[in-house]
Amino acid sequence: MRVFKFGGASVKDAKAVKNVANVLRETGFSNLLIIVSAMGKTTNALEKVVEYYLTQHPQLNTSIEDVYRYHYEILEGLFENKQHPIYKKIKGLFKDLETTLNRNKSKQYDYIYDQVVSYGEIFSTIIVSGYLNDQGYENEWLDARDFIKTDNAYRDAEVDWEITLQMIKNKVNKKTLSVTQGFIGSDQNNFTTTLGREGSDYTAGIFAYCLGADSVSIWKDVPGVLNGDPRVFENTQLLSHVSYEEAIELAFYGASVIHPKTIQPLQRKEIPLYVKSFLNPSGEGTSVKKGQPLDPYLPCFIVKKNQILLSLSSLNFSFIVEDNISEIFNLFHQYHIKVDLIQNSAISFSVCLDDRFDHFDELLNKLKSRFKVTYNKGVSLYTVRHFTNESIESLEKNKDILLKQITRETYQVVARGAE
Ligand code: ADP
Ligand code: ASP
Ligand code: MG
Repeated sequence: MRVFKFGGASVKDAKAVKNVANVLRETGFSNLLIIVSAMGKTTNALEKVVEYYLTQHPQLNTSIEDVYRYHYEILEGLFENKQHPIYKKIKGLFKDLETTLNRNKSKQYDYIYDQVVSYGEIFSTIIVSGYLNDQGYENEWLDARDFIKTDNAYRDAEVDWEITLQMIKNKVNKKTLSVTQGFIGSDQNNFTTTLGREGSDYTAGIFAYCLGADSVSIWKDVPGVLNGDPRVFENTQLLSHVSYEEAIELAFYGASVIHPKTIQPLQRKEIPLYVKSFLNPSGEGTSVKKGQPLDPYLPCFIVKKNQILLSLSSLNFSFIVEDNISEIFNLFHQYHIKVDLIQNSAISFSVCLDDRFDHFDELLNKLKSRFKVTYNKGVSLYTVRHFTNESIESLEKNKDILLKQITRETYQVVARGAE
């Protein structure tokens, strides 16, 4: 059995959805589960809906209509017959979304976020599944929330592997074509949860692990994993072969082509991962497998923008010792702030942080009572894996560098702002 994942870019308009069918024609579509993300930038648009809902903004209804119109246009491009039941189905889902908002009594942002934003994946998979069925790619639509069971840490839910494994093993038909959503799951009370932004790759890893799949392919708008994001770095080259360890490192440092959590479940069962271009399905792409050396062996460039560099020192010039450090890390964990890089000296401790849930200001208040705090917001963390002198030189050019760290394979700088 194989697992495919199609991200937002691969279903961003009617033409792109038609191309998904082309990919399936080329690759075959039996014994296949496909995971589909929300269409294009729908998740961002639904985040706006949540914000408008919570601030009772006058643009709330317009923001929902915009999302509806976008999906309606895609429907028009795929289903000529306006009497096709899919039109009613999508309209019904938008009504459900409005009802969800009207009936909601919770003020908890993260909970509301998951109930609303998850609609993007539902709209998308209903449309893709319906289109594929009409085109002769007979498939079963699955609600991922019946399979991926999580805790109730909304927006960053942890998978309950035991139940998830049972559900997937017992209920997914391995012989046919199934279509389901990435990114979403449900908690014990069956409320919708999400696995973190860009989490659909991770969903592919979860299903593949639980099904004991032969392979996972993620279809992207790039030829595969390159030695840098082509939107940021010039003259990037395709990495044909990458080991699991290398892929985990690249994803951890911020190579956004693969979600960092995706690899671990695959590695545990040695399931190969292929990253390929949905525009060129027969292209070589990148294979991620056990133990294969990086090929070609090149410096790999990664940038994480909009990070925070935080430095703490004790108020009385005493050492920052293990006790303080463990207390500080507990706080990061509590506020769902991810640590990218650590550097400490006798009396000060610096970390580069990814505050993707916007909790830094709350954390700051706590820290200020215990430490002398300095910080820079909006910094960029640049990483070069397998660096050379030349690659460092080109990276450092014209940058206002705040911190530098070099280990055997990895060179990192934190620099002010972003180009
Ligand atoms: P999707 O959500 O459609 O699955 P993403 O947009 O999340 O796809 O990932 C694809 C994008 O990742 C590419 O368009 C590219 O800009 C970016 N990217 C970042 N780092 C790399 C890299 N090392 N190699 C290839 N693409 C990368
Ligand atoms: N739709 C979600 C997002 O944009 C999940 C994903 O695409 O991976 O973050
Ligand atoms: Mg994505």
